[in-house]
Amino acid sequence: MMVIDIRKLNAQKRYYGEMQFSYDPPQRLLNIPFAQFVGGVSVEFEYDLYEDDAFEIRGKVRYQLKGQCARCLQEVETTVEGELNALFEPKKDAEDYSYFGGVVDITQAVEDAVVFSLPFSLSCKEECQPIEYSSGNEND
Ligand SMILES: [Zn+2]
Repeated sequence: MMVIDIRKLNAQKRYYGEMQFSYDPPQRLLNIPFAQFVGGVSVEFEYDLYEDDAFEIRGKVRYQLKGQCARCLQEVETTVEGELNALFEPKKDAEDYSYFGGVVDITQAVEDAVVFSLPFSLSCKEECQPIEYSSGNEND
């Protein structure tokens, strides 16, 4: 859980600043065949806490993926970076992210940022050559 206590920030008059989290991503976020997360997601952002208690974050998620190159099938490991921008509003009917009870949980926003930044497939290098598959049916 990545939770931020808005009441504490208000009490300490920390209306802006930077924060860092490390998040252990569930594998269900991945829809790339044969790929997996290596280690956690590093979450870094600047925040603003506004007068109406809206809480805005602007930063990045960064993580490593391991899997098979979609073209040559070699093992490949790659670092992915994604934008993390979200506004959390302290009300129930907010369309985007909202929060209750003075505590913001940014987990959903971080998972969304990871999902949006996922590549469609992994490849070891730009000019990697695809394997030639035979068109015949080899099920026998
Ligand atoms: Zn390759």
